[in-house]
Amino acid sequence: MGKRQHGSSEKRWREILKLEKRRRGISEDRLLIVGVADLANFWWCAQQSLFWARDSELRVFANYVFHGFRLVTPGLYEEPALMMVEMLLKERDERERLRLLKLVDDNYKGLDLDRILREVAKKAEKDAEVEIDGRILRLVREGDKLVILEEGVECDLTKGEHDDVCRKVLRALCARSPEHASRESELGSRFKRGDLLHEKLAERHPSIFYAKEWDRYVIAGVPDGIGEDFVYEFKSTVFSNSAKYKWRVDNSILPVTRTQANIYAWIFNKRRWVVEIFSCADLRLYKWEGEVDYGDVERTLKGFKAAEEGGEILPPVCWKCESCKYRDHCKVKDRCRPSRRQGI
Ligand code: SF4
Repeated sequence: MGKRQHGSSEKRWREILKLEKRRRGISEDRLLIVGVADLANFWWCAQQSLFWARDSELRVFANYVFHGFRLVTPGLYEEPALMMVEMLLKERDERERLRLLKLVDDNYKGLDLDRILREVAKKAEKDAEVEIDGRILRLVREGDKLVILEEGVECDLTKGEHDDVCRKVLRALCARSPEHASRESELGSRFKRGDLLHEKLAERHPSIFYAKEWDRYVIAGVPDGIGEDFVYEFKSTVFSNSAKYKWRVDNSILPVTRTQANIYAWIFNKRRWVVEIFSCADLRLYKWEGEVDYGDVERTLKGFKAAEEGGEILPPVCWKCESCKYRDHCKVKDRCRPSRRQGI
């Protein structure tokens, strides 16, 4: 029964997305809603970015609708927004559906973002917890340090030379020593570990889902944090930035993350971005900061649009295809480029 309900709800979401595309004068086989992470992935592989965006469009659209109702709800409570979503899904009258979709659109355009962020900040959690040897330890991020309250220990994350307590906690968060993990199992657990590290180690800033239009697209997503004049992104990797994988981190992971941060800064009208990447290989936090680069945002959006409209797609280096879930039916893979040097 659950599956049938899920199936019918997906069918209705598809109908509503189709209607929204029509309302905006967009052909239904074109993308309308694009997630920020999918878009930034353009610099990893343009073809993969398109595959991802198509796969996730319905999910991002459902979030866009839900948050479009939620962001205007005093107190940002979910219940009234869920009721509006339910109403939209059940509504059979097309004019009423169109009215509700326009309402979502208007809600984003008329929003007082600063007020919303102040409300979200009140709800932001401060502490995280981790269980080590049957004990619960509370973790607090203070600047570049991770404070382990029960042990009275401060781990300087950017230095990477840790005492036993810090090393033990950080290794536990990385789940296991990545240098001993097989490539396949490592990839399988990548997202799980990334979520855990994000929850325990990232700086605490308020954040919200938000959307902004560019050309025929609506670009939407939730940054890892939004500060006074910056957006914040946190990532983790199994690669080290200090040894033989430095080239790969600098040239593959960082450009995508930096573009993601630039897109969020553009969406939220912020002047700067801060990117942190925690390496499980050397248990160290790497940090980059910069001014928003609107040129990067525009290059990404224009490149993505051209690729979606059939323009030539630059193939990635071949090692990126090895772990890509689309490799069995991807034609761009046949033109992949050999690595110029180890790592990229
Ligand atoms: S198989 Fe390679 S070229 Fe195709 S989408 Fe994946 S990474 Fe890109």
